[in-house]
Amino acid sequence: MNATKMRHILDTIADMFPDAHCELNHRNPFELTIAVLLSAQCTDETVNKVTATLFEKYRSPHDYLNVPLEELENDIRRIGLFRNKAANIQKLCRILIDRYDGEVPREHAALTELPGVGRKTANVVVSNAFDVPAIAVDTHVERVSKRLGVAKPDDSVLEVEKRLMKLVPREEWTITHHRLIFFGRYHCKAQGPKCEICPLLDVCPEGKKRMKAAVRQSEREQLEKAKTKKVGPAKANAGKAGNAKPTPAKAKAGKALGGAKAPGSAEAERTNVRHDDAARAQGGENA
Ligand code: SF4
Repeated sequence: MNATKMRHILDTIADMFPDAHCELNHRNPFELTIAVLLSAQCTDETVNKVTATLFEKYRSPHDYLNVPLEELENDIRRIGLFRNKAANIQKLCRILIDRYDGEVPREHAALTELPGVGRKTANVVVSNAFDVPAIAVDTHVERVSKRLGVAKPDDSVLEVEKRLMKLVPREEWTITHHRLIFFGRYHCKAQGPKCEICPLLDVCPEGKKRMKAAVRQSEREQLEKAKTKKVGPAKANAGKAGNAKPTPAKAKAGKALGGAKAPGSAEAERTNVRHDDAARAQGGENA
């Protein structure tokens, strides 16, 4: 991936998603930390539904420690791994009170020492809450980076992050993280990416592969259709006629096709399918 290509990708996703932002609702660094912790293996939408009431009931680390673990579990039970997450929230709140005066630390290293907070969560917190440039690599960022060839298919999450940090100007790290998430969430989805209308198809190895596969699939379908037509009653009768000479009407039609075989013969079906598909393939590659 060279700098020019990367610039093209960054500018294109910026045009597509000018309002990309953190979709986890929060009012302060503490709520953001809790929201990101809850979002592991869960959609932002579900987290927002839960935190809409959670953040009214629990406003500070003390609030989370003032209830039995079971009550907190119950308050977040709509979220996957809720037992683990509830336990981590209480442990995290204990540490915030004991070591940081109830505040979320600003240092990346300190954040990653908190229970339930990994590198990705810490990146989201420092970049969104404290304006420190960072690229958090979640499932969307990883998938899109690999499809576009920004990262290699077998790169680890950390390797993807390092490649992005090298290719994206530092002042654009945070916004690029949001744009890549929007691009992956709403356009280059895990299932059914919109390659046929993608403005990045010209630079995307995965998209080109998918479009070629789609053309091949279409070819197979056309051939199947042609075969089905061939065994229809009219064709079967034509087959019985064996080597019968083409009627004048058929010969005329053949001429009109400019050298194509007379319609009705299997060869003509295949030939015409090939013509159609060649045109389609041409169109697909130029799309
Ligand atoms: S061409 Fe397809 S795979 Fe590539 S970025 Fe666009 S939508 Fe994703």
